[in-house]
Amino acid sequence: MRLPKESMSLWITIFSVILAWFGMPDSPIIMQKVKVPCWKETINCQTGDMTDLYFTFSDFYPARNLFICPTCGAIFTVDPATEHYQGKDFNEVKQTLNCPECSSSLSNLLPYPDNVRCPSIGQIEKSFRKAGEIPADRTEFIIECWDPLS
Ligand SMILES: [Zn+2]
Repeated sequence: MRLPKESMSLWITIFSVILAWFGMPDSPIIMQKVKVPCWKETINCQTGDMTDLYFTFSDFYPARNLFICPTCGAIFTVDPATEHYQGKDFNEVKQTLNCPECSSSLSNLLPYPDNVRCPSIGQIEKSFRKAGEIPADRTEFIIECWDPLS
């Protein structure tokens, strides 16, 4: 039996709609990068490598929280105000998201700069400096971070 061309294309359309539907949960959510004002401090990690630590600060609003992807070192930022006003809990949202740079699950994110990634060996280590302590060098830097709630 030979199907007319029109019905073939109709079936293809229906098929691709079904595929798109089932493909939806896995399709990547487009994450935006946002500019975050920070303080910077350069430290030596355990191998002796120099690496920069960035700290967010608060002025009138609570400081943005930063996180690091332990696999690739990408930095993420979450604004507590966005969580509050959008009624989103980042601890829940991150379970369904993947890192845009290495596609590992965001459920593995670690607080930053409490955890820092040593550049030469790519290993995560604890930083001696706790977030919230403002470094002596108060030069402001703007860093670009992934914002999973954007
Ligand atoms: Zn990553």
